[in-house]
Amino acid sequence: MQKTKELLKEIRISSNVGGSKQSPTPSAKETPNTRKKKAPLHPPIETNWLLPPVEERQKPYRSFMSFLSFRNMGRTQSAEMVLEGQHNPKDEKLVESFRELLFLEGHLPVKHFDYHTLLRFLRMRDFDVMKARDMFVQYIKWRDEFGVDTICTEFKFEEHEEVKRCYPHGYHGVDRDGRPVYIERLGMVDLNTFLLVTTIDRFVKYHICEQEKTLNWRYPACSLAAKKHIASTLSILDVKNVGMSRFSKPARHLFMEIQKIDSNYYPETLHQLYIVNAGSGFKVLWKAIRAFLDARTLAKIRVLGTDYRSSLIEAIDPSNLPSFLGGECTSCAECGGCLFSDKGPWNDPEITDMLQGMLCTEEEQEFSLTNASDDQKTAFSADTENVGCEDNTMDESFKVAQERKHVDKPLLQKIQALKPVLQHTKQKIRTLETALENIKLVLQELEQHIEDLKG
Ligand SMILES: [Zn+2]
Repeated sequence: MQKTKELLKEIRISSNVGGSKQSPTPSAKETPNTRKKKAPLHPPIETNWLLPPVEERQKPYRSFMSFLSFRNMGRTQSAEMVLEGQHNPKDEKLVESFRELLFLEGHLPVKHFDYHTLLRFLRMRDFDVMKARDMFVQYIKWRDEFGVDTICTEFKFEEHEEVKRCYPHGYHGVDRDGRPVYIERLGMVDLNTFLLVTTIDRFVKYHICEQEKTLNWRYPACSLAAKKHIASTLSILDVKNVGMSRFSKPARHLFMEIQKIDSNYYPETLHQLYIVNAGSGFKVLWKAIRAFLDARTLAKIRVLGTDYRSSLIEAIDPSNLPSFLGGECTSCAECGGCLFSDKGPWNDPEITDMLQGMLCTEEEQEFSLTNASDDQKTAFSADTENVGCEDNTMDESFKVAQERKHVDKPLLQKIQALKPVLQHTKQKIRTLETALENIKLVLQELEQHIEDLKG
């Protein structure tokens, strides 16, 4: 824990650390149709890395990661700021109107009304508040109907390792800016075995849990490690040998299900997607696939042939790139290979101790631990020593974090969500009061005038 404290101290707001380096934009050749229908793009979601001095900063609306944050604690204030990132005043205004609209329409803002979530939906719809509203309402409905929170705490994907063998995929380190790197080797998918060891429904549930884990655990961990707000992923899709013939009906179904979930419910979490080893077979298929992708997503995709190494190295340090992609990672052998290791700051004991510590402190401050079960307390002090490889310890810690996050404290959450609305209403009342006073004065003058006329 001492180490953690030191690490926390180390976190200072650096000015535009790493810069908001724009990734290369796709060339016209790679995405010929994108240009025609491409919607205007906004800068990457982490653009606002430059943080203002503490005193200038308004208390941020509690974010999806706020459950990890400290309050009233100087030593961790900067860590909290790293997690939260800077709020662009213009975006903040739009988010505020968006939140108000949702509230006025009767959507009880108990969860997911935080700045970053709302901003992602706004950005996805090019800041068209009504369109973002429709999308967000669908999202809340889906979470509720699908039982996302319950799935994430209860669902166990026991076939995890077998699935990874016939569908190689996984998170592996970070890119040069500190974003998690996600890799899929689509060309190596053995769909027959996949359907023997799991079902599409179960895989979809697993995928959702992974998405939740990325939002609520991997991004905060990456933010602490990089000392700047991280909120998107760099993905690599290896499509060696992928062609129309491999894209069978179940494969299409799986692709569509995952794609639907990612674009409808987890918008704006993709920083860049590199499709590598794209051969002629894939290019035929790509024409069909791209029809299902929105312009904003398409603009983030680079389709590369076999000569992809330099592009990947530009974005990712070789030590964070598996050897099968031209990298030099040597740390995953004992875990069964790079796609089994889940290596990254989210499995680094110093970082996870810090995240858990922050969570515990916040919980202690706000709700006191009296209601937490002993099991939960024990799980929080879980030993994270063996987290070099993907194991259950980390998953359990994350799940407990999720549970605690969603231990419903509806009243507190409602009060928090109502605060900005209340403030706004107060302002309006004050304006009305002033107007009323003015009217009174006018009336008095008028009265006087009438009296004068009478006289
Ligand atoms: Zn590796």
